[in-house]
Amino acid sequence: VPEGHTAHRIAREHTRRFGGSNLAVSSPQGRFTDAALRLDGARLDRVEAYGKHLFYRFSGDRIVHVHLGIFGKFTTADGAPPPPIGELRMRLVGPTSYADLRGPTACELITPDEAAAVIARLGPDPLRKDADPDRGWARLAKSRLEMGALMLDQRVVAGSGNIFRAEVLYRAGVSPFRVGRAVDHPTWLGIWTDFRLLMRAAFRSGRIITTEAADRERPKARTVPIDDAHYVYRRTGMPCRRCGSEIKTTVQAARNLFWCPTCQAV
Ligand SMILES: [Zn+2]
Repeated sequence: VPEGHTAHRIAREHTRRFGGSNLAVSSPQGRFTDAALRLDGARLDRVEAYGKHLFYRFSGDRIVHVHLGIFGKFTTADGAPPPPIGELRMRLVGPTSYADLRGPTACELITPDEAAAVIARLGPDPLRKDADPDRGWARLAKSRLEMGALMLDQRVVAGSGNIFRAEVLYRAGVSPFRVGRAVDHPTWLGIWTDFRLLMRAAFRSGRIITTEAADRERPKARTVPIDDAHYVYRRTGMPCRRCGSEIKTTVQAARNLFWCPTCQAV
């Protein structure tokens, strides 16, 4: 499941590959055909990410809004594209490479006002320089919802997903069942700073690694193995890396939550 760093990596790569070029735009699947016809041959200026949302800014104030959702995926490669197969929603072809989009939750042509409205509904994005953590705090500080749910709420932290919510709460020593109203401002700022640290690392490497070397079974491995990458995520029944307690799981906010009942007691 893509988290925010995935969208930012796509935005960077697609800006590098396609920015400033006139693109052939098509929708072999047929569900984006009218918009593709209007965009075909237009210049793409740049691609921006905000949380998990992507905005392809074409000349003439035309924007394609993409949200990958759970199943969406871009395939990006050098050279000319192969004959289209599968449910290919949008194909972008530039001078030297192409990008194919399949299975997104959203792929729509919108205006700058509509893009601004999408962004206005999102909270601060830790991967953006313009992010203001107090916007997330304003929502969290008066909420009766539990932290495990709030850390998935895109109005609190844009770009957070199921791995980050579990791992950041563990690293902060905060119970996922504590309500937002019971969290103080310094604790929130610590959580926010950790989101930024972990998401920037994931943006650089393409992987979500949250463990400190000293807490890994193989602290010296040059490439961190996947079973050493997390503290609690998908470690149900295994001993906590720091205290040895059994890692627990439950469903919270419709997603599997993982936590250590000792390290995250309150
Ligand atoms: Zn523990």
